Parts: sequence; structure tokens; C-alpha cells
Amino acid sequence: DVFLKLQQAVSLQPFNTLAVPARARYLVAVDSLGALQEAVDYSRQQDLERMVLGGGSNIVLASDFPGLVIQLNLRGSEILEERADAVTVQVAAGENWDDFVRFSLDQGWYGLENLSAIPGNVGAAPIQNIGAYGVELSSVLKAVVGYDIEAGTMRRLESEACELAYRDSIFKHTLKDRFVITAVELRLSKIAQPETSYPALMAELADETPTPEAVAQAVRRVRARKLPAPDTLPNAGSFFKNPIVDQACYERLRNAHPAMPAWPVASGVKLAAGWLLEQAGWKGYRGEGDLSGLGTYHEQALVLINPGRVAGQQVLALARAITESVSERFGVELDIEPRVYG
Ligand code: FAD
Ligand code: NAP
Repeated sequence: DVFLKLQQAVSLQPFNTLAVPARARYLVAVDSLGALQEAVDYSRQQDLERMVLGGGSNIVLASDFPGLVIQLNLRGSEILEERADAVTVQVAAGENWDDFVRFSLDQGWYGLENLSAIPGNVGAAPIQNIGAYGVELSSVLKAVVGYDIEAGTMRRLESEACELAYRDSIFKHTLKDRFVITAVELRLSKIAQPETSYPALMAELADETPTPEAVAQAVRRVRARKLPAPDTLPNAGSFFKNPIVDQACYERLRNAHPAMPAWPVASGVKLAAGWLLEQAGWKGYRGEGDLSGLGTYHEQALVLINPGRVAGQQVLALARAITESVSERFGVELDIEPRVYG
């Protein structure tokens, strides 16, 4: 038996990048599959809710967590298959995402450069099919390996079975809270195929040769300018997903706001949530009264900031004020991107 080192009444403030104060009734750090299984068994015996925690960069803790937080510290990576032009590598869920991005580039494995500098761990990447600067995880994900809690077995899901979509996957639906991702398999190319069509990236590269390393550095520079570092200014990245609206809604809005950015996608037209917030006057907002200690970033309204390290309920109150004002002004409903607990 692996002996679980359960901690009680643990502050989660250091473990969520919004720096919301909240406690977990129990927390356990697991660094092996055996320990993970044992932690899950324990939670079932005790009838405890579970929360699998990676880097805590995409969660809002709206209250204390009455169950067991499982901190997934599985580490390591291994090559599964190597060819002249490509490599398939399995990476454990507890590895830091950006460390692996840097490592892959150092090896001459390409495909992750646009996804540089995204906080969090490898195991969370498939949950919302992380994406940035014109690339999503789906373009390199081969498979996901994990522990199916209901079945009580390990399972491997090919990428096609993961239902990856814009900020979405099967792990937010059918497999929500029942599948612990323990590793991901990525298929990376040894041939550089830079993706530089994203406008902000293209502008940053200017006339530089877009080698994968140059792309990664350009992404890092743009991000450093536009996004606050959570350790100095607590935040959870983009707080709202970009809304996808139907053609009629898009045309109504475009007639009223000819400068509104929009992109056609399979299911309709994607709007920029950040632009809607900015138009509604939220960019650089500083909260007062009930919302004091909170705000939105001055470079990107989509990023809610929590310099006052106030409670998750207050963060959600700000989110509601924003969604209501955007709904009133544009008739568009925004959805929160991070997972809300409590
Ligand atoms: P956590 O916050 O720990 O977990 C998020 C959710 O996934 C939770 O519900 C958790 O239970 C679940 N989960 C985590 N790991 C596992 C696992 N192994 N098995 C099962 N469930 C699991 N996202 C983007 O897509 N693109 C960006 O460009 C981007 N930029 C960001 C910039 C900043 C400054 C910040 C703070 C966030 C940004 N994000 C971005 C959001 C976030 O970084 C990603 O969603 C990231 O993948 C979350 O990883 P995490 O380990 O912190 O997940
Ligand atoms: P930006 O470059 O200011 O662009 C604003 C919005 O326009 C983005 O939401 C982006 O959608 C959309 N967009 C721009 N060009 C596009 C194109 N050619 N086709 C389709 N959509 C386009 O965005 P930003 O806020 O600085 O973020 C830069 C990138 O990092 C974005 O990809 C963003 O998603 C990602 N990011 C994500 C988070 C997060 O927490 N999820 C946080 C920070 C940054 P997309 O978002 O769909 O790309």
C-alpha cells in the first residue's frame, strides 16, 4: 500500500493563480499511479467530492472545497516513436506545460511554439484544448492517457475521441470529473512548419525569418506585454470565451459597429470577447465598493485581475456585472472560461 499523506484544512490560495482565499477540507499530492488510485479509492469510501488540481491557472474557487483536492505531481516524458521527420512523445500530466514547450524546441521538435508561455500543467492542456496565436493543442495531440474513475481502469483515448473544439473537449462533458488525465501523447514534427498568420504574431515577427525559435520568442514578447504575470498580479487569463453567434446576430452587430472584429467559424461567427468588454468600458476597470480589490487589465479587458486577493464570490460578482453590461449593450451572452468550484 502507498500511504496517502492527507493534509487537512489546506489553504488553496497559493495553488490558484487568481490568489483567491479558499480552503480544501483535504489535499493530497500524488506522484505515482498507485497513489492516484489510492486517493480516488479513499474519496469514494469517504464519499468526498474530488478536485484534480494542476497549476490552478484556470479555476475560480467560489467557496471552501468540502472534498479532496488531488494535486497531480506525475513527472517525466518518454519517446514512444521516433522517425526521421517526426517524434511521438508521452509527457506526464504533472510536468509544467511551458517547461515542456521549451524542452521540445531544444530537441528540435516543432509544433508547440505558438503555445509558448501558457501557464499550467501538461495534464490540463486537453481539458480546454489550449490555444493561442492560431494554434490549438488539437493540432499535435495524438492521445490522452488517464484513469477512468467509474470504470476503475486506465484508458487511452485517441485524439479523435477527445472531442476537441474551441476551448472544449469531452473532459468538460461526458468525462467531466470522471477521468484523471495522467499523460498526453504529442506528435511533433522535426520539420519546421511555422504558423504565423495570426495578426499580432505576424506584426511582432515583422521581417524576421520565422524559425520555430523566433516564433516562440515573438509569442513570449507579445504575451509579456499584453498579459499580467499571475505571481505579481493575480489572474486566470481570459475570463470569458469568445462568443460564437449566428449570422443574423453578427449582421445586426456589424451594421451597428462596422469596426467590430469577427471571424467565420464552422458553427457561426466568432466575436472577440475582449473587444466587446472594451467597448462596454471595462478595459482597465478598477473595482470600488463590493468590487474593490478587483479589476480588469489595462492592456486586455478580458483578463480579470485580483490584486486585492479577494474571495471568489466577489470575482464572480464582477464577472456578472460584466456579462450583464455586455448583454444589455450587444445582446450577446458571454460564458466564463475557467472552471468554477463552489
Ligand atoms: P488547473 O487550473 O489546475 O485546472 C483546470 C481544470 O482542469 C480544473 O477543472 C481541473 O480539475 C482540470 N484538470 C487539470 N488537470 C487535470 C488532469 N490531469 N486530469 C483531469 N482534469 C484536470 N489558456 C489557453 O488555452 N490559451 C492561453 O493562451 C492561455 N493563457 C493564459 C494566460 C494566463 C496569464 C493565465 C493565468 C491562464 C491562461 N490560460 C490560457 C488558461 C490556463 O493556463 C490553461 O487552461 C491551462 O491549461 C490550465 O492548466 P492548469 O494546470 O493550471 O489547470
Ligand atoms: P488578440 O491578439 O488581441 O486578439 C483578440 C481576439 O481576436 C482573440 O480572442 C482571438 O481569438 C481573435 N483573433 C485574432 N486574430 C484572429 C484570427 N486571425 N482568426 C481568428 N481569431 C482571431 O488576443 P490576445 O488577448 O492578445 O491573446 C492572444 C492569443 O493568446 C489568443 O489566441 C488568445 O486566445 C490566447 N490567450 C488565451 C488566454 C486564455 O486564458 N484562454 C489568455 C491569454 C491569451 P482566439 O482567442 O480564438 O485566438
